[in-house]
Amino acid sequence: MTKILAINAGSSSLKFQLLEMPAETVLTEGIVERIGFSDAKFKIEFGDEEIKVTEEVLDHTKAVDLVMNALVDNNIVASFDEIVGVGHRVVHGGEKFAKSVVITPEMLATIEELSDLAPLHNPANITGIKAFAEKLPHATAVAVFDTAFHQTMPEVSYLYPIKNELYKKYAIRKYGFHGTSHKFVSERAIELIDVPAEESKIITVHIGNGGSLAAVKGGKSIDTSMGFTPLAGIMMGTRSGDVDPAVIPYIMEKEGLDINGAMDVLNKQSGLLGISEKSSDMRDIEAGIAADEKMSKIAYDLFAKRIADYIGSYLVTLGGADAIVFTAGIGENGPEVRRIILEKLAFLGLTINHENNNTRGKEIEISGPDSKIKAFVIPTNEEIMIARDTFSFLG
Ligand code: ADP
Repeated sequence: MTKILAINAGSSSLKFQLLEMPAETVLTEGIVERIGFSDAKFKIEFGDEEIKVTEEVLDHTKAVDLVMNALVDNNIVASFDEIVGVGHRVVHGGEKFAKSVVITPEMLATIEELSDLAPLHNPANITGIKAFAEKLPHATAVAVFDTAFHQTMPEVSYLYPIKNELYKKYAIRKYGFHGTSHKFVSERAIELIDVPAEESKIITVHIGNGGSLAAVKGGKSIDTSMGFTPLAGIMMGTRSGDVDPAVIPYIMEKEGLDINGAMDVLNKQSGLLGISEKSSDMRDIEAGIAADEKMSKIAYDLFAKRIADYIGSYLVTLGGADAIVFTAGIGENGPEVRRIILEKLAFLGLTINHENNNTRGKEIEISGPDSKIKAFVIPTNEEIMIARDTFSFLG
């Protein structure tokens, strides 16, 4: 059995899962939060046990120390050498990475160059890569990119209808994100439908705090709703999704904001939060509706409409669909949101199995037996994808 760490390093957090491969058993998982502070929080879970510690963690190197020592101290691994692979989530692979790669110094340099496209994410991912390379120099390090799955999009999907020189000079185009999740749930959906994989047409709906859809044909992404950045597409927790770009200079002028201020409005003060004027969390919006709050209801309906409209668009892109798959926090736990979206597709012969739809957090078929298009809930698992890809590089 082979032990592999799946790592998601953010600017102030480090999430990890230790998996045994190829069995895909999760041995332990945890998180270090508030890295950079004197009161950082470390949590690790194994079996029914959970350990929580608050202590000073000023950088990612210290966070990695904490994680690795906890693994040894709790006898989860006998020594560091037992971990032979470390898979890292990397947000932006640009046009350079269409699949996961072993991280060599050259690859790391390329990921660093791509920080220009994802200034908030790639530098944090790189910090994690470097910290683990120091601690586990013997382990094979692998980068798994959020953008990679969408690199199969054709030009007509990824090009923006703007002056092409900007694409040639700066690679301004649609990249798409959540690729690891869209890949995981679409692969699973293909196993669940009675259609040959190469002919399959799947629409994946990943809705958490961030959200995106993908049109997946024959197992390949041919379009997705996020764009050059994760701001595009559907309405999200705090992000607007698609708006007329001319809104930006207008907000700047009227509100006396600079470009960062205006982008902050669209990234952090919009979406469910912006419309409800209450919360970015779907549970609070549902509570607001139960309390008869008008703006919560409008936020909810707008959220569902924007997703349904994208599904409509991808039905055209794909020429129909065999299945629609819901995943991530809201997709897995929001029966009401799923119902509202799917009811808009009744005219296509899509029917709902309401009893199945009224469940949360587990894989289930939620379309009716007579439905012309199947619908599923498939819990996403990005860590397993990271571990699978990392395992595939070990001899
Ligand atoms: P992230 O994009 O940060 O990974 P998640 O996938 O965890 O986010 O999704 C977070 C969203 O899922 C929140 O809007 C939260 O309200 C929603 N969510 C989680 N559990 C439930 C639930 N039981 N009912 C409705 N929404 C839920």
